[in-house]
Order: sequence, then C-alpha cells, then structure tokens
Amino acid sequence: MKYPNIIAIDGPAASGKTTIANQLAEKWGYLFFDTGVMYRAVTWLALHKNILTKDEALVTDLADRIKIDVAPPSKDDGREYDVIADGIDVTWKIRKNKVDSQVSRVSAYPGVRKALTKQQRRIGLVGKVIMVGRDIGTVVLPEADLKIYLDASVEERANRRYKQRVDRGEDVELRKVLKKLKKRDNIDSTREVAPLRAAEDAVLINTDDLSIAEVVSKIENIALSMMKE
Ligand code: C5P
Repeated sequence: MKYPNIIAIDGPAASGKTTIANQLAEKWGYLFFDTGVMYRAVTWLALHKNILTKDEALVTDLADRIKIDVAPPSKDDGREYDVIADGIDVTWKIRKNKVDSQVSRVSAYPGVRKALTKQQRRIGLVGKVIMVGRDIGTVVLPEADLKIYLDASVEERANRRYKQRVDRGEDVELRKVLKKLKKRDNIDSTREVAPLRAAEDAVLINTDDLSIAEVVSKIENIALSMMKE
C-alpha cells in the first residue's frame, strides 16, 4: 500500500496550501515544493536589477536564466525552507509587499510560465512529491495521482495573511491586504495562460471553517481511500 505518488494542491493566495502541503509532506516523507516561490524569485530579481516588470521581454529573459534552489532551512528564523536565487538568499525578500504587488503581472507572461513550468515538471515527475501552486493539476502535472483544490472566502484569506504579517512584525492594514488579495486573485484567474482554476478531477475543499489539522486529516483520508481502491 502506497500513498499517491504525485500530489497537486492548487488554490488562491492564503487558502492554506503551503502550510497544509508542508505538514503532509513531513508526515509522509515527501518532497514539498511551492511553485509560487519561483514566480516570486523572478519578480524579486527583476526589481533588484531595476528591470521594469512591464518589460515582458527582459523579464522573460530573466526567467530563462535564473537559477532557483529550494533547500532545507539554514536559519532558525521562522522559515520553512531556504529560497536561493542566483546565489542570493531571497527567502524573506520574496515575501515583501513590492513582490506581492508585482508577481501576478510577471506570472501572466507566457514565456515566464513556459520556463518555470518546465523546471517544475522535472522536479514533480521524480515522484513522492506534493507540489503547490495555481496550475499544478491543470498544466504542470496533469498526471498527478491526487489533485486537491483548496479555497476559502477572500475575507478569511485576507485575515490569515494579515495575521501572518503582524506575527512577522510588519506594519500592515487589513483593508489593504484585502484589496491586494482581490487584485491578485483577479489577475491570476483571468490571465490567458494557465489561469487559476480547479482541474476537473480535483477534490474541492473549502477551508473557511476548518482548522489546518482538519484539512490535513481530510486529505489523508482521501489518500487512504485511494489506497484501498
Ligand atoms: O502562492 P503564492 O502566493 O506565493 O504565489 C505568488 C504568485 O505566483 C501568485 O499570485 C501567482 O500569480 C503566481 N503563481 C502562478 N502559478 C503557480 C504558483 C504561483 O501563477 N503555480
């Protein structure tokens, strides 16, 4: 009996994907891979190099060349993993407001998606992996054995994101977090290439009234029922 080999978890920002996938991966001894960090790293690098994110050709060129590594945490500062872009530790840099507000524009560029999707598929097809994003079940790994789509109301998601930021000591306003989240949701779900949506064969879970532990156990039960089939 084996857990499903390739697991895709998609959903909008702050739907709980990362925390839940990370916990499942730890329990099962699977690789956890958060594809959002790749789009964030490209966005950060563009800003860092003073490249305007509206310059599609230059940003696409960056995505083609960037080397992104995700490795076990090297510091005990609340990080779940290290994100290294072209040799620079960008783990926290990619979580800054500036990246948040530009990343959806960058991730809508077809050439950027092509470059990153290729790397993601290579990592995912090795197996024993839980990959998280917006288009994993639909585009990156359509052959995934189990596809989950996590959702929650935008108000609940904004609350969660707001609390995370306050816990990190950032000075934020809930109203602004909500506004930005709505904007990002809108760009992510209306873009032409690989928009945010649930795969036809995905299991939908609304996490509004569920704790993290409840969602983890729901997914474990789904995986167990697949093993019995
Ligand atoms: O998941 P996270 O909020 O870190 O993702 C940041 C952004 O990266 C998303 O808002 C989306 O624009 C983009 N993204 C994507 N496809 C993925 C993962 C993330 O377009 N598979």
